[in-house]
Amino acid sequence: MDYKLKCLQCGAEYPRAYASQICGKCGGIMEVVYTGRIATPRGKSFWDFERALPKGTYRHYVVGGANMVASDDANLFLKLELTNQTGSFKDLGSIVEVAKAHEYGYADVVCASTGNMAYSIAYYSKLYGIRAHIFISSDANKDKIYDIRSTHDAVIKEVDGDFNKALDIAALYAKKKGFFLSGDYCYRKEGQKIMAYEIMGNMPETSNIIIPVGNATLFSGIYKGLNEMKASGSIKKIPRLIAVEAKGCSPLVDAFNLKRSIRYRVPKTRADAIAVGFPTFGMQAMEGLKNTGGMAISVTDNEMERAKEKLYREKGIIAELGGVASIAAYEKIKNKLNRKELTVAIISGGNV
Ligand SMILES: [Zn+2]
Repeated sequence: MDYKLKCLQCGAEYPRAYASQICGKCGGIMEVVYTGRIATPRGKSFWDFERALPKGTYRHYVVGGANMVASDDANLFLKLELTNQTGSFKDLGSIVEVAKAHEYGYADVVCASTGNMAYSIAYYSKLYGIRAHIFISSDANKDKIYDIRSTHDAVIKEVDGDFNKALDIAALYAKKKGFFLSGDYCYRKEGQKIMAYEIMGNMPETSNIIIPVGNATLFSGIYKGLNEMKASGSIKKIPRLIAVEAKGCSPLVDAFNLKRSIRYRVPKTRADAIAVGFPTFGMQAMEGLKNTGGMAISVTDNEMERAKEKLYREKGIIAELGGVASIAAYEKIKNKLNRKELTVAIISGGNV
């Protein structure tokens, strides 16, 4: 679909030829705004929905897929994102974002990561012949960093601080060097949005979607995708969105449940994939929670451990703590849900 970019902070607009995801006027994050009719692609898996992506040139590398499996609970289906090439949902965003960096002629991309983003950006950048510069937070998973160092040509820089600090440093570095800043920004969100198409394309009767939240790109992307599907007539009703964060790092959950603005929290959780003290797309996620009658749930590391064991016992699937936060949340709220409703829990990653 043809599009323009709009700054979410100051409202400035840019044509599609603008080769950055950051507003040149205020440094704010942007949104892809479609200028024509919203596409109504039908299908089951990522590339079936290419027409819903920002106009561009995409190489059809393997990504996405339905991967919806029944759980032992008749009302709960699992959407397995750990089956992506680099083991997490990040690939749906990277395949769009790295293609855009390539389209704009960049030879280098920069991102901040707690681990999964690094795997994904490093892999897809390599396919495009682009060098990735990755700033890793000091609380990142050490095994993940070791893997990335040893299997990709990415330049890894360790930051003394949490994810939000790595984010600031990455943004400054990209600006100074004239590199493409990648990560949780507008093009990635468009790729993550396709997960809504995959879920509703495979299971149109879905009533609730439970989404692990770190930077809230997936959550706000799914919300955007569902709104597009509703606008184009592909679905009649938008499912209720349920956000889940770690109890030791729950800025969005606290803000929504206490009816106040989002405040930074020092991450204290072993679920590294969702250890984000201040979510970039938090405001958009709040809107998604309000407009879908949503719920915001926090789960402890021990509850995630139990969910991880349960998934392995029942399905033989090994996922990471942040990835199974959705199952842990379902366990807490299932008695409050209507037993006629179908719930989809997104298992966002499996890099352990
Ligand atoms: Zn701006």
